[in-house]
Parts: sequence; C-alpha cells; structure tokens
Amino acid sequence: MTGASSSANPQHGLADRLTRWARGLSGKGEAEEEVDETEPQRARAGSSAHREINRRRKLYDEIGNFLFAHDLDLTPLNFGVAHDYLTGAQIGVEKAIRAVLAERGTISNGLVEEIVAEQRADEVTPEALSTMLAKVEENLSEFTGLMTESRNSAKDYGAALQEEVKGLAARADNEPVLARLVALTRSMVEKTRQVEGQLRQNEKQTHALRSSLANARRAAEHDHLTGLPNRRAFEGTLREEVALAQKEGQQLAVAFCDIDHFKVINDTHGHDTGDRVLKFVAGLLAKASNDQCHVARHGGEEFVMLFRGKTAAEACEAVDRVRQDLATRSLVNRTNGERMERVSFSAGVSNVLAYDDPRAALKAADRALYLAKEHGRNRVYLAAEVD
Ligand code: GH3
Ligand code: MG
Ligand code: MG
Repeated sequence: MTGASSSANPQHGLADRLTRWARGLSGKGEAEEEVDETEPQRARAGSSAHREINRRRKLYDEIGNFLFAHDLDLTPLNFGVAHDYLTGAQIGVEKAIRAVLAERGTISNGLVEEIVAEQRADEVTPEALSTMLAKVEENLSEFTGLMTESRNSAKDYGAALQEEVKGLAARADNEPVLARLVALTRSMVEKTRQVEGQLRQNEKQTHALRSSLANARRAAEHDHLTGLPNRRAFEGTLREEVALAQKEGQQLAVAFCDIDHFKVINDTHGHDTGDRVLKFVAGLLAKASNDQCHVARHGGEEFVMLFRGKTAAEACEAVDRVRQDLATRSLVNRTNGERMERVSFSAGVSNVLAYDDPRAALKAADRALYLAKEHGRNRVYLAAEVD
C-alpha cells in the first residue's frame, strides 16, 4: 500500500488524522510497520501475531475516535456504522458517510440512522420476512378453517341425508321428504360452490406468497453486484458439502481469495471501476464453479471457493490457474479507455475435513491468505494441517 494512494482518499485522511490523534492520546508509537519484501521470512513470520494485534488495536482506536470526534452516541448502530466506514466492509455505508463528510464535515446520530435506513431499504430484513411468514400462516389457517367448514358441511349433509333416507323407507307418502331432500341438496351445492370460490382465491394468494418468499430467499442469499451467492448462502452450502463429503468419503477443500491492493484500484480509478473489477474477478472465479465447486462472495473484495472431490493441494492448483489467468490479463478502464495496472489476487487454501470444525478450516485458509499477502501477494498458499 503506498502513501500516495492513501492521501488521495478522504477516508484515509480522516482515519490517519484520528489514528495520529489516538496515538497522541495513548502515547503509543507507530503501531504498523511496512512489509519489507526483502526481509527474511522467519523474522516476518515471528511478528505476524503481533502485527495482527496491533491492527486490531488500531481499529478499536479508530472506531472510538470516530465516534468521539463526531459526538456520536455509543450505540451498537453507531459502532457498527463506524466499523463499516473505517474498514470499508459495507461499501454503501462507506460511500454515504464519505458524501456526508464531504458536504458537512461532520455526521450526527440522526444522519447515521438515515444512512442505515437507506441501506436497508432494499434489503430483505428479518422484519419483512416475518411479515411475509405471518401472512402465509394467516393464509394457511384460513385455508384449514375452510377445509374444516367444508368437511363439516359434507358431514352434516351426509347425516341429514341418512336421516331422510330412513324416513323415506318408513313412510308411504314420500313427497315432503323428497322436497326436503331437494332443498338440502341445493343448499349443499350452494355451500360447496362458495367454499370452492374461497379456496380458489386462497390458492392464488398462497401461490403469490410462495413466489415472493422464493424471491426473498434468492435476494437474501445472493450478492446483487456480482450475482454470486453471498456469505450467508455459502455457510449453508459449507454445512451441506461437509455432510456430503463425509458421507461419500470425499475430499473437501476451501479457498479464500482476496484481491490485492483493491483500495488502490478504487482510489486510482474510482468506485464504479472498482465495482467492475469486482464483477470481472467474480466472473473468472465463477467459471471454475460446477456441482463440485461452489464460489461465493464472502464480503468486500474477498471470495470463497469450496471444492469437493479435490485435495487441498489440487484445489490450490485450480485456484492458482485462475490467479495466473487474471494476473496475465491487462484490463482497460472503460470510463477513460486507459489500461489499468495488473489486477491480482492472493489466496489461502485448507483441507476442511482435517479440522474438527469447518470454522477452524476457514480460519486456517484465512491465515494462509494472510501469509500469501505478507510474502508479496499474487500467490496461493496451502495451510499447514496442524492447528
Ligand atoms: P490487500 O492486498 O492487503 O488485500 O489490500 P486491499 O487494499 O485489497 O485491502 P483493504 O482491506 O485495505 O481494502 C479493501 C477495499 O475494498 C476497501 C473497500 O473500500 C473496498 N471494497 C469493498 N467492497 C467493495 C465494493 O463492493 N465495491 C468497491 N468498489 N470497493 C469495495
Ligand atoms: Mg484485498
Ligand atoms: Mg480484504
């Protein structure tokens, strides 16, 4: 990451100021050291846990100072927004805050709430889902009620008919009985027709609800920028694939891929071009997907791939082929026709079934990714199978 690119971004400007301020307050020295490509590997590996702690501490400081600088209440909402803004975890939030800061220089509790509400407008919120489910339930209980009503009417009709038939056999003069039978049948036919009409209406509504639920589920499990399944969907797929691989005695490997210096791409070419690069990389990774390989956007500029039937080493090779493919392409910035610097990604791969818990395998792949970044980026690393 270069100093020049950081100063081009107003977010960095603020973060830098706040960090300097935080350091001044806590009396801490420079927490971050630049990665030196020529530094011996052993020295780097020894300092990575320390660097990770420093990174986290710096983030805590930045979030706290952001809240304090803008006089924001210490609420989970404000904390989450400050986190998303400072880390860029939610690009929409980051953009909206940057716009407010550029316009007013500061942000208030009310504006934070407005930004969050705006971000959620097109999200399938738990509230929207529960409203839909409540409607389905209401519909179903109405449906059940109609069925019971219809069944009871038929039962009553059957019982009444039986009564009349008994009477019919006993009496010589059958006319009044027949008239009653006709009236009873007519009322039953009318009743059935009404119930049928209501049932048809009910069926239509249930059908519409079912399709909006299916849409809601699709929206909730897909990332709208790249069209790939999102992290939530991936977590479900991971559970299913673990069970399947164990049942079939197959290998299962997971890979975390993270675009290198993506912030620089955004800072140099703008977020829209950044978005197009994301879509492009997503498309390249997705080409590898099939029923044994799942690709998802894990968040930001990070993707995850799950390979069933491949060892971690084989998965490493597959990911590396995509890495090479991307690294040798020269992309053009569509907005100005300029050729962009090479885009690459780094990745970490682990063997899922080597760990008791798939989450430990994800952590191992993430650690391998972290090392791939530290050792120069644009490379794929295999996690060591000891935890
Ligand atoms: P590294 O090589 O260490 O991964 O560096 P990096 O710059 O890629 O990583 P960093 O985590 O510092 O920055 C990631 C950036 O990705 C921050 C955020 O602004 C950007 N980003 C995340 N999601 C999106 C998105 O949907 N669109 C765009 N354009 N940028 C995004
Ligand atoms: Mg990155
Ligand atoms: Mg990242």
